[in-house]
Amino acid sequence: MTISNLSSRIPGFHRMTTAERLEAVAAFSGLDGATVAQLGAPGNIDPHLADHMIENVVSTLSIPIGIATNLRVDGKDVLVPMATEESSVVAAVCNSARQCYETGGFVTSVSGNLMIAQVQLVGVPDPHGARLRILERRDEVAAICDGCDPMLVQLGGGFREMEVRVVPSLGGPMVVTHLIVDTRDAMGANAVNTMAETLAPSIERWTGGRVLLRILSNLADRRVARARATWPAEAIGGAGVRDGMIAAYHFAEADPYRAATHNKGIMNGVSAVVLATGNDTRAVEAGAHAYAARDGRYTSLTRWEAGADGALVGAIELPLPVGLVGGATKIHPTARACLKILGVTTAAELARIIAAVGLAQNFGAMKALATTGIQQGHMALHANNVAIAAGAVGEEVARLAATLVERRAVRQDVAVAELERMRGARTA
Ligand code: NAD
Repeated sequence: MTISNLSSRIPGFHRMTTAERLEAVAAFSGLDGATVAQLGAPGNIDPHLADHMIENVVSTLSIPIGIATNLRVDGKDVLVPMATEESSVVAAVCNSARQCYETGGFVTSVSGNLMIAQVQLVGVPDPHGARLRILERRDEVAAICDGCDPMLVQLGGGFREMEVRVVPSLGGPMVVTHLIVDTRDAMGANAVNTMAETLAPSIERWTGGRVLLRILSNLADRRVARARATWPAEAIGGAGVRDGMIAAYHFAEADPYRAATHNKGIMNGVSAVVLATGNDTRAVEAGAHAYAARDGRYTSLTRWEAGADGALVGAIELPLPVGLVGGATKIHPTARACLKILGVTTAAELARIIAAVGLAQNFGAMKALATTGIQQGHMALHANNVAIAAGAVGEEVARLAATLVERRAVRQDVAVAELERMRGARTA
């Protein structure tokens, strides 16, 4: 590692143009011309737009978007764009969806578009009295919240209800108000945060306490999406495979070490669609994992069982706070294009499709794990990456990848040696 002796304190860095910033970074890190050219190459996003989306922009990172085929959701066929850097993810969804296509695909539903904002109140001598004083002001709270976002109200959204809890904490009891807001087709973080901040002085006045945090909860358990599907035993390789998959689920249900990986597999699919549509992957990830632990023990986001006819029945339920407006969804041209591919007109429709993808992804991973193991299929696809990393170009990539799979040695050292041998054989 080269340790720069230049200072990381670069005055006015945020005011520089993207090119000037890149120049400063290149000087600091000693980047060569090829590296600077790579970072400076435009992707499929206008550099000026990128510069407005986040701070201190120097470059953009392009992630492949693959299309999941074979999905039928609530009787309608959909093509689903998935943005991911991980091989096998898209293929797994295509395969899983194909195996339940004939039984109707996925049936989905949502609990609503309700987001929760929290207002933390401390320093009240009578937390239970304060709780009731806040609850008594429901109409005032509704008016203050709705007053923050007339556009949302016009669209049929806005304040719906509130909850006030006395939460014991290391620093003594605190009074936590939950504002429950229908954010329609927006993810709603900014919308509800504004409401929480606007309401805070009133809560202080009514209670005599001091408001600290005012922010949404990513445990969006009022915005849950669900999907279920049926895989006939004969379509998946028989009752043995079905029972193996159910046993795999039982493992995830019982053991957090397994559940974390089980749910990570689900999020491979979920986050790929969330990212492709310009939504907030971290918000969805945080919500999903918190939901998986909602009963005090981290467990599976899916459930698997054998139906009366011996078919495998899968079900998923997770918070899916995604939007069609707000954040990057509306301003990133590729996200807009992905929403067009999906053909969704409401955030709820998008959430339902994402839930179906999560279930399909989980089916694919569990089936592989319960039968051939994950590596056989994964390594075949991963071999392409290993080949490219070893320096293969053009048609060398597929040839080298095939050789690595055939030799059952999808490894960097083998790839380098094999590529050298291939090239040597060609020039000999
Ligand atoms: P936003 O404020 O940009 O857009 C929402 C607003 O758009 C609404 O308040 C409404 O006034 C308007 N609107 C127009 N058409 C609408 C429709 N059909 N349905 C609903 N509203 C409509 O965005 P947002 O959704 O409030 O916030 C999302 C962003 O907040 C994301 O980028 C996320 O990353 C970010 N964020 C997340 C967190 C978190 O998850 N903890 C915290 C802060 C910010």
